[in-house]
Amino acid sequence: MQYISTRGQVPPVDFSTAVAHGLAPDGGLYLPETLPDLKPKLADWADLSYPQLCDAFFSLFATDLDRAELSAMIERSYQNFDHAEIAPVRKLSDSLYVLELFHGPTLAFKDFALQLLGNFYEAQIARTGKPISVLGATSGDTGAAAIHGLLGKKGVRTFILYPDGRISPLQERQMTCTGADNVFPLAIKGSFDDAQAAMKTVFEDREFADEIGLSAVNSINLARILAQCVYYLYSFYRLPAALREQTTFVVPTGNFGNVLAGWLLQRMGVPIKGFRVATNQNDILHRLFQTGTYALGDVAPSVAPSMDIQVASNFERFIYYAEGCDPDKVRAIMQTFKSSGQYTFENFDPGTFSSSRTDDAGIASIISEVYRKYSYVVDPHTACGFTDLPEGPNLILATAHPAKFPDTIAEALSVDSTHPSLEALKAKEVVKHFVEPTPEAIKAFMREHKQA
Ligand SMILES: *Cc1c(COP(=O)(O)O)cnc(C)c1O
Repeated sequence: MQYISTRGQVPPVDFSTAVAHGLAPDGGLYLPETLPDLKPKLADWADLSYPQLCDAFFSLFATDLDRAELSAMIERSYQNFDHAEIAPVRKLSDSLYVLELFHGPTLAFKDFALQLLGNFYEAQIARTGKPISVLGATSGDTGAAAIHGLLGKKGVRTFILYPDGRISPLQERQMTCTGADNVFPLAIKGSFDDAQAAMKTVFEDREFADEIGLSAVNSINLARILAQCVYYLYSFYRLPAALREQTTFVVPTGNFGNVLAGWLLQRMGVPIKGFRVATNQNDILHRLFQTGTYALGDVAPSVAPSMDIQVASNFERFIYYAEGCDPDKVRAIMQTFKSSGQYTFENFDPGTFSSSRTDDAGIASIISEVYRKYSYVVDPHTACGFTDLPEGPNLILATAHPAKFPDTIAEALSVDSTHPSLEALKAKEVVKHFVEPTPEAIKAFMREHKQA
């Protein structure tokens, strides 16, 4: 299997190269040259365990990796989950199900992809002998999941920038209390945007990038999308057989990475009925699905911070397919969007997508209502999924454990939501480093702390 760029200006590459690059050199995103047809496999795969299903799925994509090595990496990636089923489906009523994606090490769905990506990186370093330095910027969950995916991996140094005092204390502890010596949480004075802007400039310095073996773990890496396809398929099989093809998958959405994975699986022939894109008050995607216009707004911080995004970086992959797999058209659209901050699709067809939006007040009332009805506590991101549900049955993706957001839960409910792994962090020592949010200061720190 080969991988092409959505912008069509570079030759196809194999799986390992697509994973190592993250972003394609022409600025596009990688996609499989052709999508496999899973229909003939669906009956055989129905009873596989989570790691077995992941293995069967990835064997169609990671065709340049050694098969036994791939299986071993997948096995290791899902060992640190605290539920035997890895991605259990919980029934709230005959027509309402929740897919719990918060049983990984950092209690959010990003662990599914980043645990695996960490093992892919380690294998790549073993093959090439070249150490790598990962640099990322986070407003919360991504940084913690990346750090835990790369913890202790041989040859990897991880540097994560975050705005000091502006992420939740528990998220900070997940990054700063690991005790690992290959992890460097970098607190900056400034906003997430300052951190991200400085990071982008560091990546543009090609000489420095080569010197230090610079790599990114952002949500555009194709391996992350493919890893997420697996839980859609796994949960599809866990639904009662009579409901499978009638169920709408409801996905709390920010960067469009999670829901894109489900949609790709549908394109591979899995008969999922459709997808509900659930946004918070940062609703660029809701507005798109309502109007056919994709228009930038200002980010307004919410109680569901991991969805506080305006430019949905994975949306370019959707555009590629929606516009007939025409890379010239993708380039033109991205150019228009970049220069004018918006793009209107001709004859926009939402296909099997629908959308919803809720604000902070809506999130709070949903958290209490869901608890009253089902004695079930949802986190503020998952709560967005419960907004104006379409005609059932629905399966809502629970993207984080409520214990990660204790303040919002406490405001909505009088029940305690705690998690042992978060409680344990409270006793540990915080190790963080302060750097100026300038490319020079970041580069100097990374040079000083690079792999010997
Ligand atoms: C990242 C994140 C999201 C948004 O996922 P996207 O792939 O960006 O759409 C939703 N909920 C939680 C808890 C997250 O960490």
